[in-house]
Amino acid sequence: MAKLKKHAFKAETQKVLSILTHSLYTNREIFLRELLSNASDALDKLRFLQSKGEAIRGGDVPLEIRVSANKDEMLLQISDTGLGMTEKELVENLGTIAKSGSERFVNDMETDRASAGGHSEKSDAAGENEHSWSSGSAADIIGRFGIGFYSVFMVAESVDVISRSALGDEPAHMWSSRGTGDFTIKALEGDEAVAFSRGTVIKATLKEDAREFLEKRRLESVIRKHSNFLPFPIHLEDERINTTPALWREPKFAITEQQYAEFYSYLTYDQEKALDVIHLSVDAPVQFNALLFIPDSAQEYFGDRRDQWGLDLYVRRVLIERSNSELIPQYLAFLKGVVDTEDLPLNISRETLQENLVLRKISQTVVKQVYAHLEKMAETDAGKYERFWTLHGRYFKFAFNDFVNRDRVAPLLRFSSSATGAASLTSLDQYLNRARDGQKDIWHLAAPSIEAARVNPHMERFRKKGLEVLYLLDPVDEFALETLGAYKEHPFKSVERAEAKDLSDFSDTEESPAVAALSEDEKAAFDKLLDRMRAILGDRVTDIRVSERLSGSPAVLASPDGVSSSMEKLLRVMQKDESAPKKILEVNPDHPLTRAMLRMFEGGPDNPLLEDFVNSLFDNVRLLDGYIDDPQLMADRTLKLMDKAASWYVDLLKL
Ligand code: ADP
Ligand code: MG
Repeated sequence: MAKLKKHAFKAETQKVLSILTHSLYTNREIFLRELLSNASDALDKLRFLQSKGEAIRGGDVPLEIRVSANKDEMLLQISDTGLGMTEKELVENLGTIAKSGSERFVNDMETDRASAGGHSEKSDAAGENEHSWSSGSAADIIGRFGIGFYSVFMVAESVDVISRSALGDEPAHMWSSRGTGDFTIKALEGDEAVAFSRGTVIKATLKEDAREFLEKRRLESVIRKHSNFLPFPIHLEDERINTTPALWREPKFAITEQQYAEFYSYLTYDQEKALDVIHLSVDAPVQFNALLFIPDSAQEYFGDRRDQWGLDLYVRRVLIERSNSELIPQYLAFLKGVVDTEDLPLNISRETLQENLVLRKISQTVVKQVYAHLEKMAETDAGKYERFWTLHGRYFKFAFNDFVNRDRVAPLLRFSSSATGAASLTSLDQYLNRARDGQKDIWHLAAPSIEAARVNPHMERFRKKGLEVLYLLDPVDEFALETLGAYKEHPFKSVERAEAKDLSDFSDTEESPAVAALSEDEKAAFDKLLDRMRAILGDRVTDIRVSERLSGSPAVLASPDGVSSSMEKLLRVMQKDESAPKKILEVNPDHPLTRAMLRMFEGGPDNPLLEDFVNSLFDNVRLLDGYIDDPQLMADRTLKLMDKAASWYVDLLKL
């Protein structure tokens, strides 16, 4: 008798298994998709080795997958003639889940459950809250986190995996588990051990409530739904089920919208339809077919998914590499799809794909075609383009770094602006169409939100003159405009940098309330007030001066050199500098508050109340600029002033 070796699952694997076996009751059919996709992966790997000329056992055995069911024994069997696994590989591949993957799975499932309105308390997976996970996202999550194999325990009571590697000369081994604490491995003996030359057989004994997956029609529909595009034949009880060949190689006119949609969901596991399809068939300068999709949901490729983008690369229908990121620049990371070329040798090694000239040419062509596609979309279906921008603009805008295609980037950029309101966006061309006669500059203001942009004091002059201002709500926007410099010879300029002469050519479009100008004496007194303010604020400001740009606000901060405040913030974040930057305080002498302060000053330059006002005014402009230096002091000052104001009010009205 061969020795039975017992192994315990790792803790995180057990947690995932526990969720899968006890908590997911709907959409369980996706277990079949996972097993078939593993079988297909194993066949892909075998074909790849074969094409490189490696010695493989059973060289003439066809590459295929077989599914069969035995109702009497409650047995579902899935076999493939792929690469197979050695004993060691069985233990490694089926005994552990990459820790990060399983942790993220458990976390995601819990967040998902919380947001689905279920119980939000953390639980140890199993138990009372069984039905609270929404099945759609479970299907998504299982596929994404590389825990596909274990999904078989949603339907199976026990599973045997018999596998024999196509490499080396090990006989077959059997992995067995009930999906609880442990699994066993044993070497098969005699005829059993060499019954097949290579590949894997999965024998799942189904749970009573999963009997449906022994019905031929049910199996057939699940395979059609999820696995129709697998590149190897799937036979169900001797009938071939999947018939669709590599869709990307078919002529466009022969493909229905439905087929594109099915292929997309097969490729991405996305339950929604794609926003758009780009199907390319190119002969020069390189030959390739590409089938690309723009997802209709926002993608996340910053942070820990940073490296998980790219297109699946095929050479003559043989999968060479998934998510190859040489095929597209990072700013197109949101694209999903496949590229298939005749111009690479089949025996290319994955290492030499980097810096490969053919791939570079394919990439250049793909990029050009994507631009053409987006340009057309922007022109013929502005609503759809705006949706594209909302979903993927935060990646796509990084195209400003692509110097080759730079002229095509600017017209595709979209912004919020003072003229469009919150709901819609503007292009640079639309901005220029609305520009005032003789307007040379394209004005912009960086702000954390539209609301913040609207109350920014720098906006006052522009509002008065009816000059539109682009709101740069993403820190990258400013880098993008800085790099581009100008659009159609209209330079980009920050409103913070606007000088009086930039605006003097434009008449006011809005009446401003007349305020009597300061007399010469008052002007002199005002200068002294500014001196007093300098003494109070000390080195918290670089200077204090009279403002030419304000009407509705009492004061504003201006940057001393060429950097705008949001750019400065970004630089400081990058340099981990947390101190507040020093700026020039500009004071509006015509504002009621500053006029009142002037009278207070004239009444007694040392009035301590004046000091409170100056400090509070400064707090206020700092806040508008996006900084809080000293929240405790600030709250204290505000309270003091409120206290005074309240008692004056009560006294005044004799309440
Ligand atoms: P993933 O497919 O994302 O790697 P799975 O949990 O689906 O995660 O599978 C785990 C691993 O088990 C696979 O990466 C593969 O190495 C191995 N495996 C699973 N099924 C097969 C199979 N039919 N043939 C060969 N290896 C397999
Ligand atoms: Mg898998």
